[in-house]
Amino acid sequence: MVAAWDDGRMTDDIGTAADSGVVTALGREVYQIDTRMAWYPGITAGYLIRSDRPCLVETGTAPSAPVVRDALAALGVGPGDLATVVVTHIHLDHAGGVGDIAAMFPGAEVVVHELGARHLADPSRLMASARMVYGDELDALFGALAPTPADRIRAVEGTGVVDLGAGRRLESHYSPGHARHHVGLVVSVSGDLYVGDAAGIYIPETGDQRPATPPPDFNLGVALESLRTFAALRPARLLFSHYGPVTAVGEALDRSAEEIELWVEETTQARRAGLDLDHAVAMVAERTRERYKVFAAGADPDLAAKYDRIASAPSNVSGIMHWLDKTSDPA
Ligand SMILES: [Zn+2]
Repeated sequence: MVAAWDDGRMTDDIGTAADSGVVTALGREVYQIDTRMAWYPGITAGYLIRSDRPCLVETGTAPSAPVVRDALAALGVGPGDLATVVVTHIHLDHAGGVGDIAAMFPGAEVVVHELGARHLADPSRLMASARMVYGDELDALFGALAPTPADRIRAVEGTGVVDLGAGRRLESHYSPGHARHHVGLVVSVSGDLYVGDAAGIYIPETGDQRPATPPPDFNLGVALESLRTFAALRPARLLFSHYGPVTAVGEALDRSAEEIELWVEETTQARRAGLDLDHAVAMVAERTRERYKVFAAGADPDLAAKYDRIASAPSNVSGIMHWLDKTSDPA
């Protein structure tokens, strides 16, 4: 395991973006960018891997694009410099800004799993289904994904490679379960693994981990298999899109699996008891609540509210219910 994360340039002059807390140097030329999703601080991260072929992992939402552009500028990556934009999956908190970022950085190739590629070229169906889920909240939370010219999109399948320059590579590994078009991304040499949402969410303020099991793609067996794929990569560090780096890798991946299994178990019990969705959500939320410091007495209520925007109990329970409905023997 690599523990020395202080060997990179931790004290770059990154100007106002650093002063405002948007950019955090994580060592080894990796920079966390707070995309300020829906103007929340510290909820959705993008990451710059700085090199002679700079690569942005996750764009954040469309309204975040100017924040990300300014952060990249502060890090010395101008409009002609960005080589690659990769998204772990096309949910709007991760990829909503792809079209805007592609327009701002006209030399960047956009890399995405093949099952997500056409939605980046033509977002109309993705936006219509997001509108059904989020209603009027869609605009404030995520804005609108702009289309990306198809000839700038590179679709990857089971695995794919992004050239980071100087002999470094970013490898994508198909990791469905949270979404059927999800990939994790591991950097050769450093062992940094960008986990997207496949390992759930990590709350740095409390150290909590919660599952992210939304409809319509959540699948228990597939999600757990993706976590095994991640473990087999023997990463040195995990970088959560929500939110930040974690170096206790084995512990975090075990906890991710445990969280998913627990929520499936509780939701299965609620379903067997014949509860409707609202009551099932209430029951599962109540039964899992004490696991999370974010809900403890005296904890900041704004913090819990913030993380409920991206992995809420209603979203998780309805995703698991949807999967149970699809897979259960009706008899
Ligand atoms: Zn997400």
